[in-house]
This record gives sequence, C-alpha cells and structure tokens, in this order.
Amino acid sequence: MKGFKDIVVRCTEFLNRKRSLAYVCALLSAYTLFAFHYPFFSYVAENVSHDLNGTWIVCSMFILMLALNYLVFYLLLYMGRVVGRYLLAILTTGNAVVLYFINTYNVLIDASMMGNVFNTQFSEASSFFSWSAVAYALILGVVPSILLCRKRIDYGSIRLFLRNLAISLVVVGSVVAGNYKNTFWVDRHAPIIGSKLLPWSYIVNSVRYYNQWKRANQKEILLPDAEEISDSKDICVLIIGESARSANFSLYGYYRNTNPLMTEDGVTALKARASHTNTLNAVRAILQHKPSRELHEILPNYLARNGVDVMWRSSNWGTPPLHFEKILSKGKLKELYPEADNNHDGILFHGLKEEILESKSDKIFIGIHTYTSHGPEYYSNTPDEFKRFMPECRTVEMANAKREELINAYDNTILYTDHLVHSVIEVLREFPDRRACVIFISDHGESLGEGGLYMHGVPMNVAPAEQLDIPFIVWTSDNAKIKEIEQADHYYIYHSVLNFLGIKSSFYDETKNIFE
Ligand SMILES: [Zn+2]
Repeated sequence: MKGFKDIVVRCTEFLNRKRSLAYVCALLSAYTLFAFHYPFFSYVAENVSHDLNGTWIVCSMFILMLALNYLVFYLLLYMGRVVGRYLLAILTTGNAVVLYFINTYNVLIDASMMGNVFNTQFSEASSFFSWSAVAYALILGVVPSILLCRKRIDYGSIRLFLRNLAISLVVVGSVVAGNYKNTFWVDRHAPIIGSKLLPWSYIVNSVRYYNQWKRANQKEILLPDAEEISDSKDICVLIIGESARSANFSLYGYYRNTNPLMTEDGVTALKARASHTNTLNAVRAILQHKPSRELHEILPNYLARNGVDVMWRSSNWGTPPLHFEKILSKGKLKELYPEADNNHDGILFHGLKEEILESKSDKIFIGIHTYTSHGPEYYSNTPDEFKRFMPECRTVEMANAKREELINAYDNTILYTDHLVHSVIEVLREFPDRRACVIFISDHGESLGEGGLYMHGVPMNVAPAEQLDIPFIVWTSDNAKIKEIEQADHYYIYHSVLNFLGIKSSFYDETKNIFE
C-alpha cells in the first residue's frame, strides 16, 4: 500500500513539475506521431521499394513529421499561450476521433469526406456512436489534453524561441532537400498519405472542401447578349488536350510521325503559347474571353444562353461550373455505352454522331476535355493498339526512368490523340449540310526530363518552353482560310469560335480571331 502511495506521489510530482516549452512540444510531437500515425506508416512501409531509398523515405517521413509538428506546436503555444493550449487540446481529441474512423471504417480523409462530415445531420452522426469511439476519444484525446492544459510551462526568452524555431526549420529544410529525387513518389502517394496525416488531413481538407464549395457557387459575370446570329448551319467541336506539348507533334516538326491521321486530314497547326502551366487556370483561360481574375461567362455557358445547342464531355477536371444540361462525364458515358472501354479517353468520343443527329439546332458546339497525355503514368492512358513506340516506361518515378522509354510512352499518347481528333473529323464529314470545324488546343505543355524537370506546373516567369509551347490545331470542312498568326494563345479560342458560328457580340475581339 505504501509502495502504491509512493508511485502516486511521484507521478503527481512529475506531472506538476514546470517544464520548458521545447520539452512540452517535443513530447507532444512524439505523442502525436506514435499515438495517431500507425495507419500512415504502415501505408508508407507497404509502398516504398525495399531498398536503401525506401528506408530513407520512411526515416525522412519520421523526422519530418516530428520536426514539423514540433515547429507548429511551438509557434502555437508560444504565440497563443492559453488559446494555443486549448486549440491543441481540441486537435488532439479530434485526432483520436478521426483515428477511430480510419481504423474502423478505413475512410480516406479527403475534401469529399469532409463535405460528408459537414453535411451530416445529427441523427445520422449518432448512428456512428459506439463505446470504442468513446474509448478512443477519452484515452487518446481527452486525457492527454487535460494534462496539456494543466501543465506548468516555462515559455523562455524570445531568443530561445527564435533559436528553437531556426533549428527545426533547418531540420525540415535538410530532410526536404535530401528527398528531391523522391518528389514523384510523394506526388503519386500524396492523396493517400495526406489523408492519414493527423491533424493536417482534416484541417487542409476542410479548407479544400470550403474552396470547392465556394468555386462551385462562384457567380459568373454575365457578358452582353449576342447582337446577331447568322442563319448558317454550323457545328464546332473544341477538344481540350491535357499536358500535350507541340514539340512532340509531327505537325510541329517532330522527327517521329506522331500525327499521321491529322496530317492526312489537312489540318492547320498554329504556333501557340499557354497562358498558365497548371490545368485549373489554363482551362479557365481557354474558356474565358480575356485574362481576368474574375470569372466571366465562359464560352460554353455563353453559347448555351444565346441559343446554341451545347454539349460537354469530360474525363478531366478544372472546368468552371457549367450551366446547361448536356454534360457527360466518363462515368455517365459508361452507363450509356456499357460496351465502351472506359479506361481511356476513347469513350469521350463514343456516340458523338448520334448526339449530333438528335440536335434540332442550326448551331452546335461540343466541348471535349481529355486526359490523354497526363503523367506520370503516360502508359496507362493509351490502349494497346496505340503503343507504337516501345519499350514504354512503366514506373512513376520518372527521375529513375530511362529517358527514351519515358518519351516512348509520352509519344504514344500523342499518337492516340491524333487518332481521337481524326475520329471527330470523320464524324463531322458525315454532315455535309453543316459547316464544321474542329479545334484542338492543349491546356499547357509538359517537361520530360529537360533541365531535370518533369510534368508541369512551374511558375510562369521561369517556365521552360516545353511547358509553354502547345498545339493549336484547326480543321474546317470548307477549308476556311486561317490568318497568318505569329503566336496564338488560349484567348483566341473564344473569339474564333464566335466568328465561326457567326455570332456577333459587343465584346468580340477581331484581333483574337484565327479565321479570315
Ligand atoms: Zn493540365
């Protein structure tokens, strides 16, 4: 009995002892790592290669998580004091609850999951109630939180604060720098490992969900109504490419014949430069009439509102909200055409002829947003019959790939694109009573190892030509004359489509029209 009393006294003494802020943060950071990150590390361990680099990735994650959490906790407690303590107590309890859901339901904490959480009624939430959830919350969350809130902390001087901050920043910086070769591993697994990182997964994804919600509800600034619409029967198809760079199109002088069909179709290839190197902003630019931070009525919405029959098909993302009915995602197309192969973009072109035949309108506009040249798994975007350049790279760790194999896999996506664009031209040839045009433009280019860069997304002021030079390819049924243009850009699309469809509007800009 005396022994037990002794232990209690010693424990109380230990807990009541005043500790430095650095000590408390280190302890809390270690606790967060060990208590809540078993699912995280078991995923990482399963998905790294079983060699020295794999071990290095696991160790890096370990050090990085410790250092980063330490840094954030230190900042929060030093600046926030009591508020900081309560905030960390809430997050620790939150971690415990989320860990229960991850362990029990194997949920992935992403933006849509947070959307579910915010849209759940109390009655639904109570159906998740269980005693083990309470145990998780109490043991892993509430008890440590109480200890944290009661702990006597010596906050130390501002000099100590700055020194500890600098040390943790150096640790974080060194580990990140030591992993520059593993960027693609991280990139590939980011959605999963990010979803298991507590508390950041639910904080970041709540913000993401809010941003998506805001974007989806963003109001377009309406443009003035069309002033005049010609009475000719026209059809215009706009195909938006993904990560297709002009350098690998034979139409732009590439040494390999990656465009045999389009060359035979007699298309015109315009020199063009992307306005952004990321999908979201680039797609927005393709559909807007001028550069702007605000969202002006995008092309398909404007056409639909002014009486054009507008159809949209997409296997990609990043389009601002569309306000018309005929929108077909890959999933919906699969429902309509169960026999079609939905592993590749070919499904976006399925049943196009029938959809055009059903239209009663004189003016038709079809937008097709593809995914074909998106990395890093270029090989997975092409069906077998388009694998002409072999052997293909099949690893996502591009920096370790053989360059020729990476380019082979990429060139096959361009060859497949050639076929897809050609297939639309073939369909339009079956409507000789309509003037028709097909425009193919890419959102941005792609780096394939030039200067040590891969994929896209480099800031515009330092972006290399590979990420900026994009194909802008035009075919018309009546061989309409196309202007000599030194260098077109994304904003040429809006005005050229208006011109082709014979729609006069006050904001129309003749200098951005490709047709004579
Ligand atoms: Zn893109």
